[in-house]
Amino acid sequence: MEPSQVYFISARATKWSYKLSLAGRFETLLKEIPLSRYIKKKEPVAIKMHFGSEGAHRVVRPLFIRKVVQAVLDSGGKPFVTDTVRIKGLDYLQVASENGINTLSCGAPVLLADGIFGNDNVPVPSGDLQGEVFVASAIYDTPAMVVLSHFKGHFTAGIGGAIKNLAMGCLSGSSRSRDWKHGRGGMHAHMDGQIQWDKEKCSLCSQCVEVCPLFACSFENELFVYDTKKCWRCGRCVRVCPEQALDLPVDEERFHKGLAESTRAVLSTFKEKKILYANFLLEIQPECDCMPAADVPVIQDLGILVSDDAVAVDQASLDMLRESPPLPGSAAQDKGIQPGEDIMLRLHEINGQKQIDYAFELGLGNKKYTLVTR
Ligand code: SF4
Ligand code: SF4
Repeated sequence: MEPSQVYFISARATKWSYKLSLAGRFETLLKEIPLSRYIKKKEPVAIKMHFGSEGAHRVVRPLFIRKVVQAVLDSGGKPFVTDTVRIKGLDYLQVASENGINTLSCGAPVLLADGIFGNDNVPVPSGDLQGEVFVASAIYDTPAMVVLSHFKGHFTAGIGGAIKNLAMGCLSGSSRSRDWKHGRGGMHAHMDGQIQWDKEKCSLCSQCVEVCPLFACSFENELFVYDTKKCWRCGRCVRVCPEQALDLPVDEERFHKGLAESTRAVLSTFKEKKILYANFLLEIQPECDCMPAADVPVIQDLGILVSDDAVAVDQASLDMLRESPPLPGSAAQDKGIQPGEDIMLRLHEINGQKQIDYAFELGLGNKKYTLVTR
């Protein structure tokens, strides 16, 4: 198999000219590729984002989204900017707007891919683990897509890039007709995916209840309870607990296999060569943009990687991350991580390489790539 091409634009500005800025070179690259290779005239094109959360501001900036919107328009496509529901849908659109992602700033409609209640989805066969998963209907029905991913750490996936943006980001949490096991939390379905609570450790601070996007957990007579049908196992309550009183055990192998199978399911709804990926290696922080806060970056800004191969673009991103020294004053320094160590592996004790390996095994892309610097 020939190595896949991955374009790289460095974040360094060596001359004070717009053309040589990151935005300017991204704009030039989108013309050079060009997008008309992936898009037919008048075709709807999903620009898949992560809208972030109320306190997590390090999302892909509207400046770059706007460049992609313009490139799609120039290719004759009809762009819309989209993500799936992570919190109550109407609140999520508000979060997107506060993070600068709205119709005015992007120059295209900003929509929820699975509807304002997260129920607009289509079951798609995925593989042995989940059987079928619920792909957001706007993703399912749209013939072409540009996936913009803020590359960062993730508490259950180790890293979050293009594969996670497809696997979790294009699925609904659950569906009207079935349970959470077929949604994006389905990778947690081992051991029935039960949240465990340690009463002895709990200080009753309520942070878990406050962070739950579905109001699925609460305290009754000072006992932690949660609605096992409503909860989609996002794990946010576990992650924010200051006392480590909550646990949602992760079977690392199953989780990464699930990511790869869900990615395959999402890709199966597109014809070949209809998706372009851009990973933004900027403000790479330890956690997902769905968390209620964003930490400082663990490495210096690197730039933008672009490819039509999700596996190659994630492999190139992870390789660059591994070669970068940790920044002082960051979570990496707090943990005593040294140059040359795999920062996200050390921070989360979860190996993000596995999702790339499983996706490669399923034939979803190539781990070998040629880096083309622009
Ligand atoms: S966040 Fe942790 S310590 Fe606080 S109430 Fe929830 S379980 Fe208890
Ligand atoms: S895992 Fe926790 S935060 Fe997420 S939906 Fe379930 S109870 Fe809510």
